[in-house]
Amino acid sequence: MTCLYQSYIFSLTYASNSYYLEGMAVKNKRTPENVPGKFYVDDQCIDCDLCRDMAPNFFGRLDDKGCSFVKKQPSNAQEEDLCMEALESCPVDAIGNDGDK
Ligand code: SF4
Repeated sequence: MTCLYQSYIFSLTYASNSYYLEGMAVKNKRTPENVPGKFYVDDQCIDCDLCRDMAPNFFGRLDDKGCSFVKKQPSNAQEEDLCMEALESCPVDAIGNDGDK
């Protein structure tokens, strides 16, 4: 319990010093090629191909940069669910869904 508490405090401190919350994509570090809208990929992408494999209509690859970007925003609930599955599966939490706020 103490260890969990200390970890939580560390995360908050780290977040306040760098404006970065562990486990979340960072909106102001979005890859510029993302199309405008709710979903985006940030600069933490490691080019693992998972999102592009799961949701190929919405995530593409920037060959020159070796990373993914959002090439199309979802337009209905089913498409949004698919993008959320990709977001939740990204191994480095590089996909965000607060880009339109
Ligand atoms: S799943 Fe995450 S790390 Fe993998 S290619 Fe997509 S955005 Fe990049």
